Amino acid sequence: MPYELPPLPYSYDALEPHIDEQTVRLHHDKHHKAYVDGLNNAEAKLADAREKADFALVKHWARELAFHGSGHILHSLYWATMAPAGKGGGKPEGELLRQIASDFGSYETFAGQLSASAAAVEGSGWAVLALSPLGKKLEILTAEKHQDLTQWGAVPILTIDVWEHAYYLKYQNRRADYIAAWWNVVNWQEAASRLTSALKRM
Ligand code: MN
Repeated sequence: MPYELPPLPYSYDALEPHIDEQTVRLHHDKHHKAYVDGLNNAEAKLADAREKADFALVKHWARELAFHGSGHILHSLYWATMAPAGKGGGKPEGELLRQIASDFGSYETFAGQLSASAAAVEGSGWAVLALSPLGKKLEILTAEKHQDLTQWGAVPILTIDVWEHAYYLKYQNRRADYIAAWWNVVNWQEAASRLTSALKRM
């Protein structure tokens, strides 16, 4: 099933005067829509490549998948985590406030770090408050473009290290030989149990 542009959860002018109606219209209907379309196109092109067993352009489409997929995820989160003027703003409460205070010291230091991080992003990008699975801590992360080079929210199930340090002593420059060898040592049981637990959390 292709991805669809989620409707804006409020009217186009709901964020006025802080964020203007014309910006929201263009941002949601044109920019966010383009990421959804780009993600669907990348998935279709990759399906086509699998069918033809022709992976000549796989690097290009993997980049498109990361760029548009991450753009779609981050924009969906951006719209969902704003509220109409008068209903948003203020301070978090309850568990979120306690977690922020525990991980950043106080709400004020957290807000300072988030604003500074967003202002410091080079070029086009994002500041993101995220829960890191390492230690279950809140972290403020930034992204250049949308991805560089991950897909936000994706849970890793299986990975191949292709840094030279992972294979150079034995395979030198023959990375493809190392990748072929790696298939002989995959732990599918571990991957399957990681998939099961990730599915439970989504
Ligand atoms: Mn945007």
